[in-house]
Amino acid sequence: MVNATTYRVQRALTGAELTAITTAIGAAGSAGEILTAMLRNVFGALLAPLGESLDGYGPNHQLDPGKFVIPQPQWEAISQACIARAAAFGRQAHMAIELINVMPCAYDDPDAVVPSTPAADQRPYEHVLTVTREAADVIAACARRCADLGGYFGENSPQYREAAGSWLGNLSQVFSMAFGARTRVTRDGDLSLLVSCDSGLVYGIIFHPVRRRCTQPGCKAVINDDGSTWTYMPDDPACPGGQHVPSYPQDAPAPGSWSFHS
Ligand SMILES: [Zn+2]
Repeated sequence: MVNATTYRVQRALTGAELTAITTAIGAAGSAGEILTAMLRNVFGALLAPLGESLDGYGPNHQLDPGKFVIPQPQWEAISQACIARAAAFGRQAHMAIELINVMPCAYDDPDAVVPSTPAADQRPYEHVLTVTREAADVIAACARRCADLGGYFGENSPQYREAAGSWLGNLSQVFSMAFGARTRVTRDGDLSLLVSCDSGLVYGIIFHPVRRRCTQPGCKAVINDDGSTWTYMPDDPACPGGQHVPSYPQDAPAPGSWSFHS
């Protein structure tokens, strides 16, 4: 914790100052303009009583946001206004991170005045999702794999729960608008997808199959779908005579899970 005596300004913003700040943020025409509007209005207000303005600061005389502190509820209201406006440009996830470096500090003051209405939902009206036909086939194959695992191992099995849970969680992420309102989904393997977002983020939803191993104590053999076996190192211990006990049968659907990779 920084000692309070090192702050240049520690005070609550007035209702009028908060209104000016959130109005300017709400009028920003791009993610960059949001940060500019926040900086000009928040630090402009905090500097004014010192007889200073932001015009006195620049590359050679940088403003240190950590020297200013406002009440936590006001800090949250300003952050939420920035993130809500960023949603109009598909940048809310980035904005939340960028704000950390440029916002003033916050102090505990539950009684500080805050805007009477929370920031409105400013996301575009619809999310335009483009799914190539190959990706549509992958999505169907992923759902089928989950159903096959449920049929083979049972819907209470860890194999089914891990696959279905990870698939649903990652698939619902594709529909989220956190990274923009235009998204393109393409194939990235039999059970994997590549997702390109409006904000520039590209991520994979990748299926990681669980290798079929031998469960005999001490044996390090891996068993392929065709029944052939191998070990990572030539001298790794393995069952004598190749009498392995596979961790799941050869005719079973391969268990596994999907994970997010950016
Ligand atoms: Zn074995």
